Amino acid sequence: MIPFSANKREELIDTMLETSFDLIVIGGGITGAGIALDASTRGLRTLLLEKNDFAWGTSSRSTKLIHGGLRYLKQFEFGLVHEVGVERAIVHKNAPHVVIPEKMLLPIIEDGSLGKTLSSIGLWVYDRLANVDVDERRKMIDKEDVETLEPLLRKDILLGGGLYYEYRTDDARLTIENIKSAHENGAICLNHMEVTQFTYRDNGYINGLHVKDTLNNQNYVIRSRRIVNATGPWVDTLRSKDPEGIVGKKLRLTKGVHLVIDRKKLPLTQSIYFDVKNDSRMVFAIPRGNITYIGTTDTVYDKLIDTPTTNREDIDYILEATNYMFPSAKLNASDVQSTWAGLRPLIHQDGKSPSELSRKDEIFYAKSGLISIAGGKLTGYRKMAERVMNFVCKTIRDTSFSPCKTKDICLTGGDFESADAVENYIQKCSGECKQVHMEEHYIRQLVYRYGSNTDRIIHRIFENYQEATNKEHCYLEAELWYCMEHEMTLTLCDFAIRRTGRLYFDRPQLEKNYEFMANCMAEHIGWDEKRKLIELEAFKTEFKAVMNF
Ligand code: FAD
Repeated sequence: MIPFSANKREELIDTMLETSFDLIVIGGGITGAGIALDASTRGLRTLLLEKNDFAWGTSSRSTKLIHGGLRYLKQFEFGLVHEVGVERAIVHKNAPHVVIPEKMLLPIIEDGSLGKTLSSIGLWVYDRLANVDVDERRKMIDKEDVETLEPLLRKDILLGGGLYYEYRTDDARLTIENIKSAHENGAICLNHMEVTQFTYRDNGYINGLHVKDTLNNQNYVIRSRRIVNATGPWVDTLRSKDPEGIVGKKLRLTKGVHLVIDRKKLPLTQSIYFDVKNDSRMVFAIPRGNITYIGTTDTVYDKLIDTPTTNREDIDYILEATNYMFPSAKLNASDVQSTWAGLRPLIHQDGKSPSELSRKDEIFYAKSGLISIAGGKLTGYRKMAERVMNFVCKTIRDTSFSPCKTKDICLTGGDFESADAVENYIQKCSGECKQVHMEEHYIRQLVYRYGSNTDRIIHRIFENYQEATNKEHCYLEAELWYCMEHEMTLTLCDFAIRRTGRLYFDRPQLEKNYEFMANCMAEHIGWDEKRKLIELEAFKTEFKAVMNF
C-alpha cells in the first residue's frame, strides 16, 4: 500500500491514472469520506476527489457534536431522532478517541421554549428513541442543583434543569479518520483536486470527469462506472455542470456561526444548551481546553459558497444571547478570539424558515446517471453512506460486492475497547512522556486528535528531544511530521485548520508558531522559497478572515 504521505502524492496520482474505477466520490467532507470508506470496504475500486482540503467545507465548521438531535423532537421528526441516536452509539464505538461522551445541561427558564414537564417528557422520549444506555439517561434536577453545577447561569429566571448525554467530536478529525480508513482499504483519496466537468458516453450516460490539481494546475480525465456528487453546499453547483443534473428539489443553504471566547472570560464548568431570549432558537456553549465556544446562528445564505464569514450581526446575536444567560460574563466583541462560519446543505421546503427545514438526507438520481446526495448531518454520516452505497450497488448490479460493513469497522486510531480505555491510554502516555516534560493536557489533545496513532508522534519526539533547543518546537515538529507522512497534509492551512483546529482553538499560540511550521513543512515536503511565501500569504489571509467582523 502506498503510504498516505504528502511525499507520495505523485505515486497516488500515477495509480489513479492507471486505474479503472467502479466509483468516483466528489467531495471530501464527512459525507464523501463516509461513502469512500463504505465503498472501498465493499470491494469497489474507489477514488475520492476533494477540491480543497479534506473537511474544508462544512465538515470543519459545525458545532462538533455527535448528537441525537433533541431539537428535532420539537419538529416531531421521531424517525430522525431514532436514527441519529443509534448512529451516534456506533460512531462512538468505532472512533472512541474522537467521539467522546459529554454531559449536556439544559436549563429550564421562565418563558423558555420548554417548561419543566415538557423538558422532562422530551428528554425521556429522546433517551428512548436514541436507545440511550440506562446509566446515561436524563436526570431532571432542581434549581439549587443547577446553580451549583453552573454558578454562572442567570438565577432570577431559572426554574430547574435537565442533564442528558451527548457526544462531542472534532468534525474535521472524524472526516480525516474516515479518509485514512478508506485509504487503508484501498481507496485513492486526493485533496486539492477540483472536478471541473463531466464526460459522457455517446448515449449521454456519465462515464468520467475532468479534474484539476489545484497545487500545480495539471488536468486529468478519469473514467468510472459510477459517480457520486457528495459536495454538501456545492451539490447544486456540481449538478448544474450536468445537463440532466438538476432533478427533484434544490438546496437551501443556511449559515451557522460559532464564536470562540477565552475560557477565563466565560469559565463554564459544563456544556450547556440554552434558550435564546425572544427567539425559538437555542444555542450551545461548550467549554474545550482553554476556550469556550458558543453557537450557532441559522440564517438564509445566498452569497459566495466558498467564503461564508462571520459578520457583526452574527456576533451581536450570539453575544446578546450569552450575556442574557450568563450576566456576569459581560462579553463584548473584543472578547472574541476566533470564529468559524459554515453552511448547512439543506433541502428546500416551501414556506419553511431556516430552523424548520428538515435535516434529512435525500439521494437524487439524474437521467445521465449522476448520483447526488444532499442534506443530512455529521452524526448520521455512516448510515447515509450506507444508503448511498446500497443505491450505487443496485445500479451497478454487480454481485461481487459485499454488503455494508462499516457498522463494525474501527476507524484509524480508534482501536480502543471503550472510553475508559482511551483514558487509560492517555495516562500511560502521560507517564512515558514525563521524560520529555510533556504535560498531560498536551497528551490529551494529541490522543483526542490521533487516538492510538499518538504513539508515532511520541516516538518521534523521543528521537529528537535530546538535540532540540526548544521543547515546544520539538512537540510541534513531531505532530507536523505525522500529519505530512500519514494524513496527506499539503499546506500550512491544512495543518493549522483541518488537522489540528489550532486556528479556532488556539489562535494566540498559532500566531507565535506559524513561521516555524512553514519552515518545517518547507524542509519536509521540499517547498522552494516562492512556494513557502505563497503558503504564508494564504495562511495570513485565513488567520485574519476569522476576525474580520
Ligand atoms: P462538506 O463538508 O461541505 O463537504 C463537501 C466538500 O465538497 C467540500 O470539502 C468541498 O470543498 C468539496 N467540493 C465542492 N465542489 C467540489 C469540486 N468541484 N470538486 C471536488 N470537491 C468539491 N451536524 C451534526 O451532526 N452535529 C453538529 O453539531 C452539527 N452542527 C452544525 C453546525 C453548523 C453551523 C452547520 C453549518 C452544520 C452543522 N451540522 C452538524 C451539519 C453537518 O456539519 C453537515 O451536515 C456536514 O458537515 C455536511 O458534510 P458534507 O460532506 O455533506 O459537506
